[in-house]
Amino acid sequence: MKIRDVLKTHKEGIALEFFPPKTMDGMAAFLLVVEELKAFDPLYISMTYGAGGTTRERTVNALRWLREDGCLPLMSHLTGIGATRDSIGAIVDELESLGIDNILALRGDPPKDLPGFDPSKGDFPFARDLVDFLRKTGLFSLGVAVYPEGHPRSPSLAKDLEYTKRKIDRGADFAITQMFFDNRYFYRFRDRAARAGITIPIIPGIMPIVDCKRTREFADVCSATIPKDILDRMEPVSDLPEDMRKLGVEFAVKQVEDLMKHGVSYFHFYTMNRADSVSDILVALGREFQRTQAAA
Ligand code: FAD
Repeated sequence: MKIRDVLKTHKEGIALEFFPPKTMDGMAAFLLVVEELKAFDPLYISMTYGAGGTTRERTVNALRWLREDGCLPLMSHLTGIGATRDSIGAIVDELESLGIDNILALRGDPPKDLPGFDPSKGDFPFARDLVDFLRKTGLFSLGVAVYPEGHPRSPSLAKDLEYTKRKIDRGADFAITQMFFDNRYFYRFRDRAARAGITIPIIPGIMPIVDCKRTREFADVCSATIPKDILDRMEPVSDLPEDMRKLGVEFAVKQVEDLMKHGVSYFHFYTMNRADSVSDILVALGREFQRTQAAA
């Protein structure tokens, strides 16, 4: 089922992002995590894709398992960086034959081990080129990534929004945000996007913090600000994994509650392939996320 239709018929809900497991044991553990989180009735499940196709086989395999396991809407992430029209055409055929109706069209990041790599030389220099290509197939509902604090390589927030608008106008049905920890960035982005004429659903990406050091590193790479009051509470428990995880749950619950007060009704969770934090967050949030069938 296409996510654009799911979003039309469901007023609210959660979505779950996973990365493809590396081993068969990992796959078994992953399927148990999915099973546990399916109790929260996700609107869709998405599977990441290594830039340049580094996880191509594993991404497709994980989606195949999920497809065999049930009928939830599934979405594959796909990156254009370093790809050719032929290589994207081949994976599109494979995803279609698996019954995947949704793609998150991304550029991907240049490989770290290839200094001087020039993304503009490929067939898909920017995500918008992939959106273009995929839209023309007519096969998928398409999502794109957006950045409440601006993409780290964008020269300014104004340019970032200009490029974002152009990318969406090529045919995206919905957008998912980079993680953020200060909701004010999301609200400002949402306002700027509305003023720029962006009308598709913008789904906030929620990252439950489980590891202080890794979250700081990742936030640094993504240019996501971690507010001082959060950092001050994280530091003392940084070596106490369960205390840290519980604090991450507390932060995420507060974050989602605040977003809901500000009219947000869809949430895309970066699960990091674990059930515990997302499950604790959703239980703490109560019944709000029961899927509600909107009147047709
Ligand atoms: P683009 O929209 O192409 O933007 C990339 C940069 O180019 C930006 O700085 C933009 O401002 C600039 N730009 C855009 N158009 C132009 C133009 N015409 N001229 C000049 N500059 C321009 N990465 C993965 O490898 N695999 C994943 O599975 C994955 N999943 C993700 C999921 C989400 C929800 C998010 C938010 C990100 C994900 N990423 C993933 C990371 C993403 O690939 C990187 O953030 C990447 O750096 C940018 O991808 P994009 O699709 O936003 O690129």
